Amino acid sequence: MSEIAVRFAPSPTGLLHIGNIRPALFNWLFARKHGGRFVLRLDDTDIARSCEEYAEAIREDLHWLGLDWDEEVRQSDRLDLYAEAAEKLKAAGRLYPAYETPDELERRRKRQRAQGLPPIYDRAALKLTDEDRAKLEAEGRKPHWRFKLDHREVAWDDLIRGEQTIDAGSLSDPILVRADGTYLYTLPSVVDDIALGITHVIRGEDHVANSGAQIQIFEALGGSVPWFAHHNMLVGAEGESLGKRLGTLSIRQMREDGLEPLAILSHSAAIGTSDPVTAHQSLDELIESFDLDKVSRAPARFDMSELRGVNAKLLHERPYEKVADELSALGVGGGEAFWLAVRGNVTVLSDALEWWQVVQGPVTPVIEDEELCEAAADLLPREPWDGTTWKAWIDAVKAETGRKGRALFHPLRLAITGRAAGPELGALLPLIGREKVAVRLRGNAA
Ligand code: GLU
Repeated sequence: MSEIAVRFAPSPTGLLHIGNIRPALFNWLFARKHGGRFVLRLDDTDIARSCEEYAEAIREDLHWLGLDWDEEVRQSDRLDLYAEAAEKLKAAGRLYPAYETPDELERRRKRQRAQGLPPIYDRAALKLTDEDRAKLEAEGRKPHWRFKLDHREVAWDDLIRGEQTIDAGSLSDPILVRADGTYLYTLPSVVDDIALGITHVIRGEDHVANSGAQIQIFEALGGSVPWFAHHNMLVGAEGESLGKRLGTLSIRQMREDGLEPLAILSHSAAIGTSDPVTAHQSLDELIESFDLDKVSRAPARFDMSELRGVNAKLLHERPYEKVADELSALGVGGGEAFWLAVRGNVTVLSDALEWWQVVQGPVTPVIEDEELCEAAADLLPREPWDGTTWKAWIDAVKAETGRKGRALFHPLRLAITGRAAGPELGALLPLIGREKVAVRLRGNAA
């Protein structure tokens, strides 16, 4: 086979979100796994809805996620190619003019439904004579152009769904060119796939019927038909449609909320597959575990709390050198000792700020057991403090007060950190230092 080439083809009409990041990721992983080419294709033929700001936002978000591309094309630069293809199809009798208005088409579909017929375009335009057409055009009507499907079964071996057949006779002849001369997505996509040597089209299963029609367009243009893989769609945690919510699940928003690129990618790669959701520490790990065969037919469930769990897991194992710069940008000090003490207690990196505040103070202590706290303050060892300080101190407090278990640890934690839960006290203690620990144990803010 020729060099593997895939593409991610977003329309720059909005921000990337958790739904369209999956085709981006699947295509990217496929390319990287097989040493192929990954093309970013901006589907911007809908001029009214596409804009450069969104194109730029898509590039930025892909960069941030770490999904680099080898080539970028935009459809608005390639209109000549589409015109050429349209002419070729016209010459072959596969693209024909039709004059119905959207209202007329809708009325016809209603009638068909009322008669229990499928609402398929009846090809009335094919029966028009030259005279009819001249008359319609004299009335000021402009034609749109439909692809004349060959009424036969179209079959392909889908890399996710297996053997697929679509009866082209059950589809309407797709409109390829609008009355204003602009293109719908169907033709440009095929023209580009041929021109760019795309070998595998990996996209959502909302495109399955399109594939039936597009395979015929590939053939009519003399291009070689690529492999197809249609992945399952995303639904919410309860199986509900994400529809409008997708707008709020943008990559931008997730980035602002402190989610890590690798958490988003690990989660997106695993949901709706036979793999468990795993926090992968590198893109290489993700590439390693990726396989289209693992994608299931059932929808992929997206659950924000699960994604946040992956994010937490990723950070719990993250070595200091990988977060040092970001921590200092957040204004968090304390070096490696601090990070190792708190990483098990963060969901997003900025949670470290809360613990840094606990270390630095001021913390308003909560005194639940005054007698214990007073005794503990009296028994605080001299500095310097290190990893052994905690055990020596706690043994002494235990012996002096007779407290143990929760009755010992919980009041100390409340006094020293002002919180009921958090990182191991033994690790926090040397970071907070004797002076502040003593003041807090005696019930004063420090
Ligand atoms: N622009 C199309 C979409 O976002 C591309 C589909 C495809 O991958 O062919 O749905």
